[in-house]
Amino acid sequence: MSIEVRNITKKYGAFTAVQDMNLQIPTGELVALLGPSGSGKTTLLRIIAGLEGTDSGQILLNGEDATQLSPRDRGIGFVFQHYALFRHMTVYENVAFGLRVRSRKQRPSEKEIRTKVHELLRLVQLEEFAKRYPSQLSGGQCQRVALARALAVEPKVLLLDEPFGALDAKVRQELRTWLRNIHDELNITSVFVTHDQEEALEVADRIVVMNEGQIEQIGTPEEVYSQPATPFVYNFIGRVNVVSGQVQKGRIRIGNLEMKVPENVNLAGSAAICYVRPHDIEIEIGYDKSENQSINAIEATICHINIIGPVARLDLKRSDTGELIQAEISNDRYQQLGLKVNELVFVKFKTLKVFPHEKPFG
Ligand code: ATP
Repeated sequence: MSIEVRNITKKYGAFTAVQDMNLQIPTGELVALLGPSGSGKTTLLRIIAGLEGTDSGQILLNGEDATQLSPRDRGIGFVFQHYALFRHMTVYENVAFGLRVRSRKQRPSEKEIRTKVHELLRLVQLEEFAKRYPSQLSGGQCQRVALARALAVEPKVLLLDEPFGALDAKVRQELRTWLRNIHDELNITSVFVTHDQEEALEVADRIVVMNEGQIEQIGTPEEVYSQPATPFVYNFIGRVNVVSGQVQKGRIRIGNLEMKVPENVNLAGSAAICYVRPHDIEIEIGYDKSENQSINAIEATICHINIIGPVARLDLKRSDTGELIQAEISNDRYQQLGLKVNELVFVKFKTLKVFPHEKPFG
């Protein structure tokens, strides 16, 4: 089932939690709502589910206006951060619950319920846990039961609010892969809320980056990472250096480094804020300053080196401004240069992005 959010605004008193939001999710897509705390992710999810009313706008499901439909009539399954399982019921009973409370006309027979519950427990790999109570399960297992329960009524859309938020890092990682696999198997339109960029980048087909009740960017993980639309997205997804420079005639000068402005940016003044990813930084050594060479690079001192597998992370301090720059180079290059803490090096940017904003974000 496709979802369309059309001009949705939601206020709590004078505070606007979601502002004139538009979003289209085609059938079968797995979408992440990603943003910092308070950006309106849960509110939007609850509006799609019908658990929350709106001040204006519409929710369309499969092209039909569903704004006035009750949550029950929307064909939506919901999984919350805290699994909200019935503690006095076994795993089997928890999953069967949604089927048992259906109206008499729609209620399946006990035999059909048994077949369905076992099928779902197989899907979430918990068949042998059917007779256990929630207190006898780990957090990750509880969340899998919650998902099986949500899927029991064969929803057309699955909404998940920080489904792995309460779990430790390793279990989260496992469940991410697992959610992706289940989604691919069932091909059910799914929207999940997260404030964890890695989770969104790894699992989602598309990411909706939210900030202060508005959408900053909608795109594939690759797009939001490689082509951030706004300074906010640059800062929120991945690591970035923010450095100031001067622009003149299509060229930008940052300390002693001068390079072409990468795109046609219409800057109001000559000051510019540049965004550079750590892996877009090159390190060089061996300039001889005594020979008055004109050095087209920023001079900096290495403050800290951290080797993470094939990558070397360097913290550098600019000699001219004292600003810190983070660089990521390959371990091979690091070995080749023989870099050491306190060494003076020269920094270049392979690419950078300039936004026509005078003030950096954050
Ligand atoms: P988090 O990641 O912390 O869950 P979120 O992005 O999901 O945040 P929401 O829960 O949607 O954010 O909340 C958005 C804003 O609306 C917040 O500032 C929150 O305080 C406010 N808000 C949410 N629910 C209510 C409510 N029932 N009454 C008043 N304000 C609310």
